[in-house]
Amino acid sequence: MTCNETKNLLNAYLDGELDSAGSLSVEGHVQRCTSCLTDMENLRGLSSAIQNGGLRFTAPPSLKRNVQAAIRAANPEVKRSFFDWRWASALASAALVIVVGFALTTQWRRSSQETLLVDNIVSSHVRSMMANHITDVASSDSHTVKPWFGGKLDYSPPAKDLTAQGFRLVGGRMDYLDNRPVAAVVYQRSQHFINLFVWPSTNTATGREEELARQGYNLIHWNESGMTYWLVSELNLPELRECARLLKQ
Ligand SMILES: [Zn+2]
Repeated sequence: MTCNETKNLLNAYLDGELDSAGSLSVEGHVQRCTSCLTDMENLRGLSSAIQNGGLRFTAPPSLKRNVQAAIRAANPEVKRSFFDWRWASALASAALVIVVGFALTTQWRRSSQETLLVDNIVSSHVRSMMANHITDVASSDSHTVKPWFGGKLDYSPPAKDLTAQGFRLVGGRMDYLDNRPVAAVVYQRSQHFINLFVWPSTNTATGREEELARQGYNLIHWNESGMTYWLVSELNLPELRECARLLKQ
């Protein structure tokens, strides 16, 4: 495992989200690599500091009184309100540092969670082809595939038949992503398989399409009508884009 791969997985490792093989790879790497070990310790420290509220410091009233008394003693003519303002301003700066730090950490954790999700999507796609387990229900009829999901999921994924447009519906499969069972709708274009992963999204905004390439696979991601969609295949990007366009129609 490389340093980059390890650093990408550190958050998930510390949150206990990796499977045992993933955890072992991370542990194995940090035993050999001081740089990643340092990163892991920093991250662990930061995470426990945030959890324990260790970043928040409330000055005792006695400290405030002592500081004000000391300044007044040194500078008797300066008005009291000036000290209060200085004190409030220092507190506000400290609070701002904490808030910005927390927001940056949250943002960083979110993007590393997305990296992990993308890796898991690619793994699921590869596994579905390697294990010769591309479908649980094999049918090019969307009236067979769609109801099949009905008894297994608490939402109804689309299972559009795109055979006439050159993307043959092969069937459906249950998979597990983002800590939940998800629908995988499978299409085929010449010898290439395409997995469409669908599950309900907390992000209800219909955002713009996102394209990624990972380990030789192309991915297209979008949100629509409360659902999140991930299309993944070794198919070239223009054809995968065409598939996404047809699915969205
Ligand atoms: Zn390393």
